[in-house]
Amino acid sequence: MSTSKEDEDYQVFLHPTQVQTLWDHVCERLKIDLGDALYTSWIAPLKVISYDGRCLNLAASSRFMKDRIQTQHGEKLLGLCYEIFPNFEDYTIAVRQEIINKSEHAEVARVDPFQNESIAGEELGDDYAAALDTRFTFENFVIGKPNELAYAAALRIAEADVPPFNPLFLYGGVGLGKTHLMHAIAWQIRKTHPSKRVIYMSAEKFMYEFVLALRFKTTVAFKERFRKVDILMIDDVQFISGKNTTQEEFFHTFNALVDNNRQVIISADKSPSDLEDMEERLISRLGWGLVADIHPTTYELRLGILQSKVEALKIKIPADVLEFLAVRISSNIRELEGALNRVVAHSTLVGRRIDLDTTQDVLRDLLRSNDRRVVTVEDIQQKVCDYYNVKLSDLLSTRRAQAISKPRQVAMYLCKVLTSKSLPEIGRRFGGRDHTTVMHAVKRVEEAMETIREYSNDVNVLRRSLML
Ligand code: ADP
Ligand code: MG
Repeated sequence: MSTSKEDEDYQVFLHPTQVQTLWDHVCERLKIDLGDALYTSWIAPLKVISYDGRCLNLAASSRFMKDRIQTQHGEKLLGLCYEIFPNFEDYTIAVRQEIINKSEHAEVARVDPFQNESIAGEELGDDYAAALDTRFTFENFVIGKPNELAYAAALRIAEADVPPFNPLFLYGGVGLGKTHLMHAIAWQIRKTHPSKRVIYMSAEKFMYEFVLALRFKTTVAFKERFRKVDILMIDDVQFISGKNTTQEEFFHTFNALVDNNRQVIISADKSPSDLEDMEERLISRLGWGLVADIHPTTYELRLGILQSKVEALKIKIPADVLEFLAVRISSNIRELEGALNRVVAHSTLVGRRIDLDTTQDVLRDLLRSNDRRVVTVEDIQQKVCDYYNVKLSDLLSTRRAQAISKPRQVAMYLCKVLTSKSLPEIGRRFGGRDHTTVMHAVKRVEEAMETIREYSNDVNVLRRSLML
């Protein structure tokens, strides 16, 4: 049986129920080949354990059975598996004793890929809905300038009776909340319109299912399944660029749904017109509804997300640590959450309160990779001079007048918080001062920020302007 070319470079992840279905196909064919008697004695007792995308793991009840199957029916079994399991390379047969360990491994291997796919609604019930991430709700989504449009659009759709715009095309860089918003829509609809049928699926999964349907000539059922839904969400649609047959099918599904006034929601890492290797008519159709982009995060949004996470975790983390993270982990929200988790995990392990030093220590590698965007000592010195209206030469001099020592201390503090420079290094950059001087300055500013409103205001304004 010929297969689509598309799955050649494609790692296959199968749901346990799909593995079972494929195995049932193999069995049906073996039954015809071998006849009922042989089939019932040798093949029927075999159990399928898992399929990892290359290797099919089976179990027999005894070594005798295993040997017999391999010598007598191995060839046929292999041939049919090649035909029926995508990307199949080999099979193994475990004897019962071995099964326990193997199936444990298999469990881990097959749970993960399916986190990305989920179906809610009457026909499929809660089994699939379990794959929606419970944390990805509207309540847990922190709104800021970069994502307010996408958020508003998602909420509108979740609450609407008829599609307010069709399709909704969400796009933005990795880790900025596209999947979170899509899951949030699905959760909200389950709450407010439980009878609506919703499919959430990664484009990768859509393609895989389609390839499978082609293989088994079940494309009619495939089409029907998709065309029956009220809301179809396809995540990371850039994945099907260059995959022409899948695009074609997607285009038809898409049109059928939109023409029937069903809601379609698409996400991608680029705008429709920037998607490469996509058919022109598909691109233009994708842009028909509302195109909402999620922009890179701002300092305020990052801080807001950290604060809400900390609140949810019911832990205490000093404000300066959160501010430090918000400043320094600016790449995306997934990394930001990862950094926070690491800091929290570390402090739980060693049983110490989290402070700035520990944080810097624990995150050294992450910080380095985020360093490109970070402000320099020179930036800080210049901004501080502008702000307090002092000369750079004075800031770096040994003068101790209050009008100069305050800006100097603030500048040192900002260097400590916003750069990864060590205390001695900062001291050197401030006219060759000692590291104890810098330490003293940092402490002084921290204390003053707690007690003197003007101080904390100055520091925050400066910090913000440095992060722009
Ligand atoms: P994407 O799909 O765009 O790559 P995700 O939706 O997977 O990104 O988001 C990555 C992580 O960041 C998730 O854990 C998600 O909960 C979190 N996240 C993203 N945006 C927000 C937000 N505005 N508020 C709270 N958490 C967010
Ligand atoms: Mg995603």
